Amino acid sequence: MFKQPFTLHTHNNELHFDGRYSAREMIKTAQDLGFETIGVTNHMIFHHSLTPYLEREPMFFDDYNKAEAAYMKHIEILENLKSEFKINIKIGFEVDFFQAKHWQKHFEKMITRLPVDYLLSGSHFLKNKDESFVCNIFHLKHLDPKPDEETMRKLTINHFKNIVAAIKSGYFSFIAHLDYCTIFGLGNDESYDEYKYEILDALKKTHTPFEINTGGYDRLNRPHPDTWMIKEMAKDGGLVPIVISDDAHYIEHIGRHFDTAEQLLSDLNYTNRFTLDMLKKPA
Ligand SMILES: [Zn+2]
Ligand SMILES: [Zn+2]
Repeated sequence: MFKQPFTLHTHNNELHFDGRYSAREMIKTAQDLGFETIGVTNHMIFHHSLTPYLEREPMFFDDYNKAEAAYMKHIEILENLKSEFKINIKIGFEVDFFQAKHWQKHFEKMITRLPVDYLLSGSHFLKNKDESFVCNIFHLKHLDPKPDEETMRKLTINHFKNIVAAIKSGYFSFIAHLDYCTIFGLGNDESYDEYKYEILDALKKTHTPFEINTGGYDRLNRPHPDTWMIKEMAKDGGLVPIVISDDAHYIEHIGRHFDTAEQLLSDLNYTNRFTLDMLKKPA
């Protein structure tokens, strides 16, 4: 049994989403492992500058209506599965937050229509200021020509600042993997610490919960965010609620390293834990 009886950040391969197992398989596994609740949070990634990547990444949308239709369809798939399971199913999305007016306008409208239980924020993109250029960090390897070092630094700083903006937006029940870019060797050195502190300050000021993403234990032998950031937030029992997430794309990922994360939180005396009543509908 897991001390935290829910896992709220999981993916599946319905439609064109990037998990490796069906929603049914993921939900069944969570139920068999003894979780009381699973949150299903496939990627919500739409933006008018995504056109060059659509062929490579069919879960990206540059057409807002197509995006909304897909998200509606996914919600319907999950609603239909509810009667098969005892486990409580929460429906959400992991949203890449953008700041272009165009995006904001459509996002605002979309979330009033989508019947979701919650949204979480996951930032996976580098982008320039006006968002005429956006690129998933995972796809940087395909860029030709590659941005020079100085440009990469600016893009990385902008990436961190975008996370601050996502926190301040108030749309999200919690913020995922604060230092995702470090998986790809970006923003690792100390010269980026000031931007990471800006993220932590924004969490504290807005009382926005954040996750300890256990996927990091497999990738980098540490959680996301890095342990020093969790330590920084752990003062006085935890300044904002923290939630343990597996970010499962495979059934084998569900509940991975939850015991290690629990031990870390216990060692840090991080007692301010996320509870299900903190899940909030956007808008
Ligand atoms: Zn993510
Ligand atoms: Zn995720």
